[in-house]
Amino acid sequence: MKSYDVAIIGSGPGGYVAAIRCAQLGMKTALIEKYSTLGGTCLNVGCIPSKALLSSSHHYEEATKHFEEHGIEIPGEIKVNLEKMIARKQAVVDQTTAGIDFLMKKNKIDVYEGLGSFIDATHIKIDGKDASEIEAKKIIIATGSKPSNLPFITIDKERIITSTEALKLKEVPKHLIIIGGGVIGLELGQVYYRLGAEVTVVEYMDRILPTMDAGLSKELNKVFKKAKCNMMMSHKVKSVQRKGEEVIITAENKKGETVKFKGDYCLVSVGRRPYTDGLNAEAAGVKINDRGQVEVNEHLQTSAPNIYAIGDVVRGAMLAHKAEEEGVFVAETLAGQKPHIDYNLIPGVVYTWPEVAAVGKTEEELKADNVEYKVGQFPFRALGRARASGDIDGFVKILADKITDEVLGVHMIGARCADLIAEAVTAMEFRASAEDISRYSHAHPTFAEAVKEAALAATEDRALHV
Ligand code: FAD
Ligand code: NAD
Repeated sequence: MKSYDVAIIGSGPGGYVAAIRCAQLGMKTALIEKYSTLGGTCLNVGCIPSKALLSSSHHYEEATKHFEEHGIEIPGEIKVNLEKMIARKQAVVDQTTAGIDFLMKKNKIDVYEGLGSFIDATHIKIDGKDASEIEAKKIIIATGSKPSNLPFITIDKERIITSTEALKLKEVPKHLIIIGGGVIGLELGQVYYRLGAEVTVVEYMDRILPTMDAGLSKELNKVFKKAKCNMMMSHKVKSVQRKGEEVIITAENKKGETVKFKGDYCLVSVGRRPYTDGLNAEAAGVKINDRGQVEVNEHLQTSAPNIYAIGDVVRGAMLAHKAEEEGVFVAETLAGQKPHIDYNLIPGVVYTWPEVAAVGKTEEELKADNVEYKVGQFPFRALGRARASGDIDGFVKILADKITDEVLGVHMIGARCADLIAEAVTAMEFRASAEDISRYSHAHPTFAEAVKEAALAATEDRALHV
């Protein structure tokens, strides 16, 4: 039986990053993955394929709606070849997962293909292509998550689908009904409305992206409405039925009235659930809580002292970069180091266009905590760079402590915000004040100038360009 310092179950961004860091720190490392490709949800059916389709559909929208205003004329009709678009997406995925194979070899990590299950706290059975049993002193559970569902919905994977199927449809839906106006619903909703589908978003709460700052929800809602999407807030879905090629969704609105939506596809995007099926966690003494998460302490250690857990399978935001931070955290903990993660400073991004990005506290949270704060907001339309590109929608909002001026939250919607948020994270990691941000130089003309201007607005209401 092969013996390891550490074995990691699951090769998503949590697991494979943990494996690399463990190997870098001199540990003999094994990585177990039940699928034939590495990279988990993120690389195979999550972050990467969804961004590939968002990019392709963005190009199409630019070509059909905006090229002309830039003086670019394309003779003849511009058409979508969905098969080719999906094939390109798959090529991007294949290239990216192959990159992980390379990294595993480079770092001399032993990869096992097969379902990993605990025999006891130091032994794992692998069922599948690389069937075997291995021993490890330390084990990291990184088994991720799967789409969750409502109890009365049957996902048939043809017309009543999750994000996994929505990433490989064979036709553009005529009318896509999306249950859940969260990140997945909006990103994939935008892909398909750009490609020509009618889109209806049915959301239980009174706004889309209900956990983000309300200002961002409102602005993105406007974008979807402008694209003629039906945004049905405060609707509780009661049933989903399929009749041939038709799907019928019944919901109850705020007034208690029954409302029906008819379409040809229904995307169920109501969140994801931690995944521990087949792991046999109890054999190792690993406790699973009533939310299905592996229970961990502040060191990400489970109820079995030599076993740790990271990523979507434990508490906290279900984000790839959060899983990665936790992978590094556990590897360094195992090496005797004292790493740290500030969960308040894990940014959240929605990759629609305009992009939505945030870090730190929302206005709603500051109000609930009775924190006195000031707001500096700056619209992108006031920037020369935004006008030059034609991307004028959105704003940057900085929330700072009223007395100390420390930045407490940054919320933005607009072009390139997914990248701009890194500046806010850096500033907050160093506990910058709004004035600090307003005093360092931002290249002109850039979208980043909106961050400086919002900081100026928060400092003394002295933005320069509004
Ligand atoms: P996962 O990536 O889920 O990986 C877990 C792996 O463990 C899987 O490969 C699974 O097969 C394997 N596994 C499970 N059980 C076993 C077992 N018993 N034995 C062997 N292997 C096992 N996050 C972002 O930050 N940015 C985004 O843009 C983004 N976009 C997304 C888009 C979509 C459509 C979806 C669905 C998710 C998206 N996410 C995004 C979320 C992101 O994918 C997850 O947060 C991330 O993948 C979690 O990483 P993980 O390592 O915890 O688990
Ligand atoms: P989500 O939690 O973002 O959104 C789910 C939405 O469904 C919420 O708005 C919720 O109010 C709504 N909802 C729940 N029950 C409902 C019901 N019965 N009827 C109508 N609406 C209902 O979940 P998601 O969009 O499925 O995404 C899952 C996870 O994947 C998220 O945690 C997210 O972090 C991650 N993800 C991240 C990205 C990114 O970082 N860009 C992209 C995609 C997914």
